[in-house]
Amino acid sequence: MPGRILVVDDVATNRLILKAKLAASYYDVIEADCGQAAFDTARKEQPDVILLDIMMPDMDGYEVCELLKACPETSHIPVVMVTASSAPKERIRGLSVGADDFLVKPINDKALFARVRNLLRVKIMFDELKLRDSTSRELGLSEFLEPGDGAERENDTVMLAPATKGQGDVWRERISRMPNVEVIGTCSEREALNMARLEQPDAIIVHQRLMEDGDSLRLISALRARPETRQAVMIYIVSDGAIETAAKALDLGTSDYVMEPFEPEELIIRLRTQLQRKHYSDQLRSNMRDGLKMAVIDPLTGLYNRRYATQHMQKIVDRAKESGNDFAVMMMDLDRFKLINDTVGHDAGDMVLKEFALRIQENVRGVDLIARMGGEEFLVVMPDAGSMVAKHVSERLRRAVESKPFVTKDGVELNITVSIGVAIASSTNCEPSALIKRADLALYAAKSGGRNLVSFHEAA
Ligand SMILES: [Mg+2]
Repeated sequence: MPGRILVVDDVATNRLILKAKLAASYYDVIEADCGQAAFDTARKEQPDVILLDIMMPDMDGYEVCELLKACPETSHIPVVMVTASSAPKERIRGLSVGADDFLVKPINDKALFARVRNLLRVKIMFDELKLRDSTSRELGLSEFLEPGDGAERENDTVMLAPATKGQGDVWRERISRMPNVEVIGTCSEREALNMARLEQPDAIIVHQRLMEDGDSLRLISALRARPETRQAVMIYIVSDGAIETAAKALDLGTSDYVMEPFEPEELIIRLRTQLQRKHYSDQLRSNMRDGLKMAVIDPLTGLYNRRYATQHMQKIVDRAKESGNDFAVMMMDLDRFKLINDTVGHDAGDMVLKEFALRIQENVRGVDLIARMGGEEFLVVMPDAGSMVAKHVSERLRRAVESKPFVTKDGVELNITVSIGVAIASSTNCEPSALIKRADLALYAAKSGGRNLVSFHEAA
């Protein structure tokens, strides 16, 4: 997983040392020697991670970080601040301007590489999600989606796995003050695993030393491996100075860590940042799922579209070949539909199509495939159905349209009828496009026979 890293430091020797370490692990390293150069280079070169010195003559690291986070071209690039001091106040200040983490000089190699790997993983995931999101938008798959609205989101559940009961109480008290957050506590590794499965928490805070001699690293990797908690935020609380354990936790998939002793504020800021990131990636994922759904669903009626129907028919065919059972293909077309659009308008026309879709759904079986093939033309495919069943169902559908007027929102009653063409497929005569063609021929026969009719195409 090589990546491009921007090293920012006003002292050439510091840059050289970092560059040598990173280049030895095959990272592509670029440099900047002051704040302004850092900002310009980041915009131009789009690095994957920025290692940012705090003490610099022109602008300090905090100012540079603020600039980077405020600029749309660079706001997504993770920033790690490199500092001579490990004072909690400085960490809080850095986190508040958008930094992802801190490394204290002299830099511990394991901490450096574990953090760089962690940030690269996150960035690659986001880049991929954003890419897919933009592709669905370009394909027009997202045009029906509402923009993400945080107001409707449920509360986030934060699960605690502290070292002692007292510590758990302190965390709970502080985290409960965050808006839209619910806190649940656990007292052992085993309980944490069970509760995570039941409650599916959005975030999990794990102390290095768990109660009842649990193994915190084992807990983290187990939670990461499970589908219920794969996307959860995980924050690891590291006992005094155990930087190498922190590095291991990052490699096992924890999202972030906090070193003891820490100000509660630091934990809160890190938790909030990670939760915001999770909300954003959840949103991108659900856009994508909805976008994919839009690719196969007709937005007006909620039925499958032609693309899905032709694809799915092949599956029905394959199954029929296995079972040896017949199946039925029905093509339906509302009679004189154009007249409705022309006389009472397109809104009424849309209402008729929606209502027709409902009446079809009410009159076929759950296993039947229903699709809108375009305009006022609909398809029903009935697996394991011979001509007897098909006759019965198609006649029932015809009556379901004829027997009850369609009522527009202005109260106008429209008497509508449907013509239906049916083809019965046997396991030896069931090529999808040929079947649709046969059903279409039967449909033409129903139309020319006077409409409001069911017509069967007899296999040659
Ligand atoms: Mg400096």
